[in-house]
Amino acid sequence: MRRNVYAILACIAVFASPAAVGDGLPDLGEIAQTEFSPQMEKRVGESIMQEIRLKEPSYLDDPEISGYLNRIGRRLASNSDESRQEFEFFVLRDKTLNAFAMPGGFIGVHTGLITAAQSESELAGVLSHEISHVTQRHLARGFAKQSQLQAASWIALAVAILASRTNSDAAQGALIAGQAASAQKQLAYSRDFEREADRVGIQLLERSGFDVRGMGAFFERLQRFGRLYENNAPGYLLTHPLTTERISDMENRIQMRPYKQVPDSLDFLLVRAKLRAQDGTPDDAVTDFDTLVRERKFTSEPAVRYGLAIALHRAQKYPAAEAQVAELRRLKAESPMVESLAAELRLKQNDPAGAAKVLRASAVRYPQERAISYALVEALLSSGQPQEALRATKDDLQAYSTDFRMHSLQAKAYAALGKKLQQHRAQGESYALQGLLNPAIEQFEMAQKSPDGDFYEQSQVDARLRQLKRQRDELMKQGRP
Ligand SMILES: [Zn+2]
Repeated sequence: MRRNVYAILACIAVFASPAAVGDGLPDLGEIAQTEFSPQMEKRVGESIMQEIRLKEPSYLDDPEISGYLNRIGRRLASNSDESRQEFEFFVLRDKTLNAFAMPGGFIGVHTGLITAAQSESELAGVLSHEISHVTQRHLARGFAKQSQLQAASWIALAVAILASRTNSDAAQGALIAGQAASAQKQLAYSRDFEREADRVGIQLLERSGFDVRGMGAFFERLQRFGRLYENNAPGYLLTHPLTTERISDMENRIQMRPYKQVPDSLDFLLVRAKLRAQDGTPDDAVTDFDTLVRERKFTSEPAVRYGLAIALHRAQKYPAAEAQVAELRRLKAESPMVESLAAELRLKQNDPAGAAKVLRASAVRYPQERAISYALVEALLSSGQPQEALRATKDDLQAYSTDFRMHSLQAKAYAALGKKLQQHRAQGESYALQGLLNPAIEQFEMAQKSPDGDFYEQSQVDARLRQLKRQRDELMKQGRP
């Protein structure tokens, strides 16, 4: 239930007029105006996202899975009439079926929703529905209708929920969960918005080459779940009221489309298998996938073998996991996910040079795969090749200059080479990109004090430090923490 806080925070952020902001609540600056511009939406979304990355325990920091989700999500969004809107998709490890859109195009998806999707078109259906809430600006339009009085109670609720994150008192937790549930009900999109998101979403699905039936099929399943849960309906149904009327509307739209069989991508199958293989204890996961493989109960052999390999990796049975990777290669399951697992298994068996070799080849083959780029730098560092690692980060940052993770890896490479100034500078950049101004400033101050920089480097550090401090002063003036 705690994740409802994001929907609520999203709402509060819009209303937070300076007078109404209570102590301890993150004040998001000048966002109190009645007109909620896309730029403001973006800022609000980024602030919430920053909180999630740093503090939300269920935030799933897996570049393979989020990479996949962003590929499919952006493919759908690129077919929107509103294609200038930027999107970022992220994953929360949570068994419930839920997905939600936040201001600024940030869309969260629960792992439960991904594993429950019976086809890629079903997952794409939910994503395109969420994308449409954003492109049709439903959040901003919905907020405009709320009154200031309600806003005050939203803020109180957000304070309580934020506090409950560190408070283990179960009774209070339950109380807050109850409040959050009713708040979420009030936040629900209107029926008109739902219908519009369905209509626009189906267009996106069709233009992107998915099976439009995916959307109807998934929502029908949700409705069945909903009946099962009765008053405790999945979170998704609370914010996206699903009526029989809505389903029949959807069916009418879908029926006019010609039938289209769309096979699932290998990436989808592997992502779903990975999430399933991470569930429960490692031994149970091994048993489950092993049974599927042995009894040949599968629609995709690569997916179950990959799941088994992930489960074996979790159970620390590395040679057995490698045997499954060999099977995957025999089956011609070509995916960067297979390569990074192969490399990871080499690393676990004290062969970082072997891992680096696998990753170097796959970096050439899949130059845009972030997970491979990160793993390659790590493997080069573990195998005592800091110079090569540094070169890899420099090449990579030319194309991905705003990637905070790569900046942080570069700091590691500089540290291994004993270059203090550059180490702190790279780490400072990484923090700055995450919106962590104070830690960033600290790093640049350390860089300033490092004895190993030349005049040119020192003056660059000085200039960047001044810039960061100005940025911090600006935000303090606006009352942001
Ligand atoms: Zn909806």
